[in-house]
Amino acid sequence: MSKVVVLGGGFAGVEAAIFLRKEGFEVDLVTPRPYMYIYPTSIWVPVCESDFAGVCIPMDELEKVHGFRWIDDEIVQIEGKNRKAIGKKGEYGGDFLVVAMGAGKIEYEGQEYFMSICGAPDEAIRMRDELDRLVTEKRGGKIAMGFGGNPKDSSAVRGGPAFEMLFNVHHYLKKLGIRKRFELTFFATMKEPGKRLGPQALKMMDIFFKKLDINRHFGKKIKRFEEGRVVFEDDSHLESDYTMFIPANAGHPVFKQSDLPLSEAGFVLIDEYCEVKDMPNVYAIGDSAYIEGPEWRAKQGHIAEVMARNTANNIAVSSGKKVGKKESYLPHLNIICVMDSGDGAAFVYRDNKRGLMIPMPIVGHWLKKGWGWYCKNSKLNKIPRIPGL
Ligand SMILES: Cc1cc2nc3c(=O)[nH]c(=O)nc-3n(C[C@H](O)[C@H](O)[C@H](O)COP(=O)(O)OP(=O)(O)OC[C@H]3O[C@@H](n4cnc5c(N)ncnc54)[C@H](O)[C@@H]3O)c2cc1C
Repeated sequence: MSKVVVLGGGFAGVEAAIFLRKEGFEVDLVTPRPYMYIYPTSIWVPVCESDFAGVCIPMDELEKVHGFRWIDDEIVQIEGKNRKAIGKKGEYGGDFLVVAMGAGKIEYEGQEYFMSICGAPDEAIRMRDELDRLVTEKRGGKIAMGFGGNPKDSSAVRGGPAFEMLFNVHHYLKKLGIRKRFELTFFATMKEPGKRLGPQALKMMDIFFKKLDINRHFGKKIKRFEEGRVVFEDDSHLESDYTMFIPANAGHPVFKQSDLPLSEAGFVLIDEYCEVKDMPNVYAIGDSAYIEGPEWRAKQGHIAEVMARNTANNIAVSSGKKVGKKESYLPHLNIICVMDSGDGAAFVYRDNKRGLMIPMPIVGHWLKKGWGWYCKNSKLNKIPRIPGL
């Protein structure tokens, strides 16, 4: 039986392992994380709307249900030409290699002074504990949340969770009856954050910020973070007792210790079938890969999963195991997001023709909750999978 080694156990890696097993391959999945982390619902951990285990799918359960082998190791180097990865505990090679290790982050001076909902999973617990301290000990203060850009790759910018996190914190403080004691500010390095979602979304965000009494601080580059403040390029600063910031993604640091071809921003260069350029039988998917397409394109979980399913199909086709055609990820490029606010959500959609933002008070929140439940239970085969979801 041909063997595939999958590096990473997030949306991309787990979906690839599941579908490669369906195609009849032997699969080794290497990740040091004993769970698949459901990033989209992790926004509820800091506001105590979900516990940490609620946004994790145990890797040993996934392994048992789908019949792949989970190897608990951290990869430090990749030799694509030899279809081999070197970990801290061993070396892993197969007939095919699938790189699905997510992304790295743009680095900032003083980054120890902010927390990020898009960072290591346990950051969400730190955010919860720090928010609890602010609420119970200080019972008031300044909260600043924002996101930054990547001038080398617009698809690597992740702003949605920053909006969601701030709206959720607003709702949480309101529920506790202490919202008026806090000053909330949204900051972003670009002049029009959220612009790629289309003009309607921009207008609606503006309405939301005004309605919820959230200050805006846009269009200034960040010089550094300090304790209790964000310092901008012109040396002006924003005071904050609690700073949440999402740096844009950059290539995973391990890719620099590899022979993989990389984009200017450090993502793995692939063709539309997710095959790494000039490297036969090596694939890269999800946040690890450079995505081609329009300026508004974004690295998202559902794109990671499309790439993973396509890769399983494409490996089966190119190895002669299956008769069919290779599948491209390009026709699936769009932005789909249910942007949660704690007491509702907005459905966001963007493709080449349109940009939509539809408010969904109350029901939107429960829709996203329902998706989180579906994601977990369908991956564990406890409920049937809806095709394409
Ligand atoms: C807060 C938040 C909210 C989001 N909301 C949405 C949303 O509503 N809709 C949407 O479509 N997308 C959303 N996204 C984006 C989505 O979560 C990502 O696009 C998706 O997680 C990418 O999947 P991935 O498998 O490529 O990377 P990841 O999910 O980051 O997984 C990477 C995997 O690689 C492993 N790994 C890392 N380094 C190594 C190493 N050295 N060796 C071995 N393994 C390694 C990690 O442990 C992990 O298992 C959100 C993201 C965040 C952070």
